Amino acid sequence: MDKIDPAGFQNILFFTGAGMSAESGIPTYRGSGGVWHEYNWEEYACQAAFNRSPEKVLNFHELRRTSVLGCKPHQGHFIIAKMEEQHPGVTIVTQNIDGMHQRAGNHNVIELHGSLWRVRCPAHGISEDMGEKYTTRKCPECDSWIRPDITWFSDMLNEEVINNAVSAIEQCDLFISIGTSGVVWPAAGFPQIAKEKNAFCIEINPEASDFSGMYDINIREPAGKALPMLFKQN
Ligand code: NAD
Repeated sequence: MDKIDPAGFQNILFFTGAGMSAESGIPTYRGSGGVWHEYNWEEYACQAAFNRSPEKVLNFHELRRTSVLGCKPHQGHFIIAKMEEQHPGVTIVTQNIDGMHQRAGNHNVIELHGSLWRVRCPAHGISEDMGEKYTTRKCPECDSWIRPDITWFSDMLNEEVINNAVSAIEQCDLFISIGTSGVVWPAAGFPQIAKEKNAFCIEINPEASDFSGMYDINIREPAGKALPMLFKQN
């Protein structure tokens, strides 16, 4: 396969899922070793659990923060970061909450499902909180429990974030999906939107999904190996 020259495209969109972070050591959702095989989400990752037992839910999320901080971005993350540095039209739309793209150096990241590194007070909104431990578990202004700014099971998606993602996808002429099984909606419909707008569509995933047939190219390799192979680099 010929290498792709990013300069030949105006707007390049990377759409990433849990497989993007797998080589960094963060387990995927559906694969073996995934966090929801070990923990019951009804006890740790939904608003009802938080209402019942905020301390338990925050302890669990601190464990996840500690484990993610023990992992590092891999070569594939750095290739995407360098591309954003060198090319004006690069956007990342991610289903991941781990912040790995930003740690690699990306800025233009749309996080569909929130972030492990932000917290939210029901009255005073969202703030960054980046350490292993939460700086505070109660809002300094109103004393409410603060919750992770993550889309938990049975939460509504953030409509503004989804609209921003769709609008970026509609404008791209190169769409590269990496490490997503394509079963979580509405993100599962994103490749179709790109295709309908005539973007050139590439899938990077060692395994095929139900949507693999609609891509122009399928690269059956892990992200850290596929990304350096795919692009011409300066
Ligand atoms: P998923 O677990 O359903 O699918 C992961 C996909 O990645 C699979 O198709 C698998 O074949 C592929 N994959 C595995 N290793 C890979 C590699 N090295 N390179 C490329 N692809 C690889 O994940 P999903 O589609 O993102 O959906 C799961 C949901 O769970 C998401 O909405 C996400 O929010 C959440 N999640 C996030 C994280 C994270 O932040 N890192 C981790 C687990 C789950």
